[in-house]
This record gives sequence, C-alpha cells and structure tokens, in this order.
Amino acid sequence: MDGRDDLYLILEVARVATVADIKKSFRRLARRFHPDVNPGDRGAEERFKRISEAYEILSHPDKRLFYDENGFYTEGATERKSGSTAWGFTFQGFNFSTSPESQSSQVFGQYFSRRSTPRTPARGADLEYQISVSFADSNCGLKTQINIRRYVACTCVGSMGSAFHLESRCPKCGGTGKTDQMKGRLHFSAICTECNGNGEVRSRCDECGGVGRVSRTENLDIEIPAGVSTASRVRFPGEGDAGLYGGPAGDLYVITNVAQHPFFRRVGEHFQCTLPISFSEAALGAKVDVPTIDGSAVVRIPPGTQNGQIFRMRGKGAPSLLQPGMRGDQLVEVRIVVPRIADERSKEILRELSRLNSGDIRKDIAKV
Ligand SMILES: [Zn+2]
Ligand SMILES: [Zn+2]
Repeated sequence: MDGRDDLYLILEVARVATVADIKKSFRRLARRFHPDVNPGDRGAEERFKRISEAYEILSHPDKRLFYDENGFYTEGATERKSGSTAWGFTFQGFNFSTSPESQSSQVFGQYFSRRSTPRTPARGADLEYQISVSFADSNCGLKTQINIRRYVACTCVGSMGSAFHLESRCPKCGGTGKTDQMKGRLHFSAICTECNGNGEVRSRCDECGGVGRVSRTENLDIEIPAGVSTASRVRFPGEGDAGLYGGPAGDLYVITNVAQHPFFRRVGEHFQCTLPISFSEAALGAKVDVPTIDGSAVVRIPPGTQNGQIFRMRGKGAPSLLQPGMRGDQLVEVRIVVPRIADERSKEILRELSRLNSGDIRKDIAKV
C-alpha cells in the first residue's frame, strides 16, 4: 500500500469517525472483500489487504494521530515520541490551563478536529453483472429484473446538503467551548472535551455513518437491447455503486451470455448456417427453403453450384447494436450430399452421365 493513500476513504469512514464506527465499517468491508468470499478475485484480495492495513492504523489511537498529523504512517513512527511529552511536538500554542491527566486526550481531540479536512466527494465504483440470455431473446431484446447488491445514496444526501453532518451547539459547554473543572479546591477553566473548544458538535448520519451511502440488495428492472451476443457489455449509466460523500454513482455493466443455437452460428452481426443440398440440386439448380430467424425463406441455388459455396441472404442476420434498425446477413454455406447408390439402374445412369461429361476435372493438378 502506498503510505499516502487516504485511509479514511479506504475504510469508508469520516475523518471524525469513532473507533466503534471504524470497527463497524472494517467488519462490513472485510466481509464483502474477504478472499474466502471472492475466490480467485485478485481485485478483492488487494482491496481486502488495503482495508486491513488501513484498519490496523486507524483503530490504534497513536497511529491514527500520527497519520492525521502527517498524512502517512510507517511502523514505529509513534514509538520514537513516547514518554511524558508524548505529544510534545504538537504542544505549541496549546492551552495548558487544564489538569495534566486530560492533556493527551485533549491534544488528540484538538488536533484531530483541526485536521479533519472537508470530505471530498468520490465517484462510486462501476459494477458488473452476468446474465444468461436465450438465443431468441438476444434477437428480440429482453426486459427483465436482476437482483444486485450495491451502494445506494443515503437519505441524508441532499437533505443536509453535501455535509452529511449537522453542526449544532455543544450540549456540554452550551457553545462557549469551555467548561469549569474542580481540582481539589482549585477552579480551572478547561477546553470543552466534547467540542474541543469549537462550541459546536457534529452529529453524524446514523444510517450511513456520514459517508453518504449504504449497501443494499435490491431488484433492478433492466432492458437488454436486441442484438447482444456472448460477452456484450450493456451499460446502465449511474446504476453502479453510489459515490462517497455525495459523489456521482458509477455505472453498471450487464454482461450477456447468449445460449447457442443448433442451426445458427453468430459471427459478428451475421448468422452462419450450413445447408445440405443434393447432387442433382447442385448440378441442375434449385430453390430451397432455408430457416431464418423471421421464418422460412427461399434461397436460389444456381446450376453448377460447388460444395462449400456461400450464399448471402441480406438483412437476415442479427440486429445491429451500433445502428438500430439495421441487421447483419445470413450466410448460407451449401454442403453437397453425395448419394449412396445401391440399385443397378441408378449406377447405369451415372455411368452414362460420366461418358457425356468426360472433361478432366483434375487437369489443373496434372502439372504439379
Ligand atoms: Zn463544548
Ligand atoms: Zn446518511
């Protein structure tokens, strides 16, 4: 992990998140990206590693403070600053009019609060969903419903602007930022530990923990256009994960897996098929009925057709995804079926035919 990644974004928590919030979010993300749940998914594995590393730092108060102060954390960074002046490097400008026991927690709170930067909206992730489509539906289009788990925008988004937090007067100090404390017979005026002297406290949205989105499993109506084939990616803009802190949602890609057909083979926007014809039909020419996806159509086989010749039926192919209303072609490859002759009369006719057509069909290979 890059030491300068935003650990709060990785854990999907606000900078002011409590330890409990961080733990909760970590557990939720860990369940989602755990390698056991996503076998073979390298992306999930990497994500799980980053989540665990971010949690290791943010769940530890000293490490978290160091990270907040410096924007990165390396192992051992906080140990060098141990001792009675644990946070000595941050003491400048700090109000000491308070009891020593609470100093470190107040320094922690003050710096933490001051360091909390505006939460930057981030775009949600794109999602992929695989769907099986029958051959007929791939040509006609399909309206269906899928069940997906994704992040959706929390109800707090919009209703509170883009803050996800309400600022309200601190209940402990009544907005003054200071509280009175007694130490024996001495009277101290101390910085309020509730609001760190700001006089205001933030209340986080309970639903989403202040990140502006929540995970939901829900049904989604989708329409697959006519003309998809296996591995087509149909894009549904804005139907991916909702963004963080009111950022735009990602897209959803539905990947189609089209069932094979016993007669038609899909090649680009065309259909290929093999048409058996008789030796006589090939020699004499014929009109032959051929199945198309619109029903039966006639193909004219010209006299003298050779095995493997391909005839094109224009506009009988698959609907075009790129040019709506247009269609590919159906390519008909003929396969000449040679008759198995058993009776004497047929053999006689074929011998007679050979004598009448005695041209050398192998004259081109004679020179080789
Ligand atoms: Zn206060
Ligand atoms: Zn919310």
